[in-house]
Amino acid sequence: MRIKVLGCSGGVGPGLRTTSLLIDDTLLIDAGTGVGDLSLAQMSRIGDLLLTHAHLDHVCGLAFMADNLFGLVDRPLSVHATAETLATLREHLFNWRLWPDFTRLPDADHPLVVFRELEPGVAKSFGGLRITPFPVLHTVPAVGYLIDSGEGVFAFSGDSYADDRLWEFLNRQPRLDRLMVEVAFPDEEGELARVSRHFTPALLAAELRKLRHRPKLFLTHHKPGCERAIEHECLSALEGWDYSHLKRGDIILS
Ligand SMILES: [Zn+2]
Ligand SMILES: [Zn+2]
Repeated sequence: MRIKVLGCSGGVGPGLRTTSLLIDDTLLIDAGTGVGDLSLAQMSRIGDLLLTHAHLDHVCGLAFMADNLFGLVDRPLSVHATAETLATLREHLFNWRLWPDFTRLPDADHPLVVFRELEPGVAKSFGGLRITPFPVLHTVPAVGYLIDSGEGVFAFSGDSYADDRLWEFLNRQPRLDRLMVEVAFPDEEGELARVSRHFTPALLAAELRKLRHRPKLFLTHHKPGCERAIEHECLSALEGWDYSHLKRGDIILS
């Protein structure tokens, strides 16, 4: 499995894109602003999009991608997410007011976008990949994804905060080779991190003590302007861990 990081920032700015991972050229996890760097040909190859949650930095690319693909592909784009996330997209995005309802265009029998409900804990196969959504704690209903390619096990915990369910789920897995996990704020923004349900380096380090696996860590979702402080704090907080701060364009093989 080849994961290309289209975006991994907690915001926008020169060279920064929000969360989106392209897997083997045909599957997307989250559709942040990173989707905007794909060509029409690359977009039209994508058949499945899995969303972690409905926040704008993870779904805004879906709006523009649907618009771009209109009339270009003859099969629908399947958008997979929990019932709560799909309900938010229906009510607040594809509602004819903020954006056209691409689940009914060009017509209700042949829609461009098809919603497919995922249930946390229940695995689904996508080609040779077995993908299991798992619940995480955030300000809105959110999941992470465990992806077993047969050669390695990769997990992306999405936007998340301290929560035993996350570690209990990962500890139940026979193996975990790579974990992509967010660190949105530096420690001095701990209160903001708490109310917005994001990790800081110290909180992540404390939570990682609950994990029985020792995966390579890929740190993501740093808020623009906070990157240097987070990197500095991780030097001591994550001492002993094999980790890297993700950059747009990085490739993860798993
Ligand atoms: Zn979020
Ligand atoms: Zn986010």
